[in-house]
Amino acid sequence: MNVAEKRVLRYLETEKMLNDFFDAFGYCFDRCIRVEIEKNGGMPVSACCKNRYHCLYDLDDPAFGILRSERETLYGKPEDQVNPNPVSPCEYHGSSGCRLATHKSPICLAFMCRESIDALRENYGIFSYDYLGMNYALEWILTGDFSEKDYTDFKENIIRMTERIRQTRL
Ligand code: SF4
Ligand code: SF4
Repeated sequence: MNVAEKRVLRYLETEKMLNDFFDAFGYCFDRCIRVEIEKNGGMPVSACCKNRYHCLYDLDDPAFGILRSERETLYGKPEDQVNPNPVSPCEYHGSSGCRLATHKSPICLAFMCRESIDALRENYGIFSYDYLGMNYALEWILTGDFSEKDYTDFKENIIRMTERIRQTRL
């Protein structure tokens, strides 16, 4: 395994931790998407997926290329996605939302809107989620510009936030 492949592996491990965090939080579907679908008479909505964010901010770096290539092997190329009634310019946005269960781009993985960040603060007392900071951290995992110490702190923070949500919801 070469260096870029190892970085992608680390990125995917981090993605799993972030998916756990978002699952525990549960805000996007419960408080936003479900409500928007109801308002839209049961038809799909795009919520915050209003651009082709899967590639919009890709960096010219081998690990970004590997991430994209693995994504396309697993989920198909963007141009091969079938969307008869598209609600978003993003090809991976299907009728039930994002088709990418894994291998999202850093910005897709990191993004939280103002309302969801406010809910994180008000409901769980979590003030440490900064979505641009999260985006850069994910980019640095891919480019290798993240020190081991910063990576360890970053992972521990995700685990801490997830545990805090779980404990509060018990
Ligand atoms: S980040 Fe905000 S706009 Fe996007 S799905 Fe979640 S709650 Fe909705
Ligand atoms: S890849 Fe997924 S999360 Fe990113 S913009 Fe498209 S539908 Fe949204």
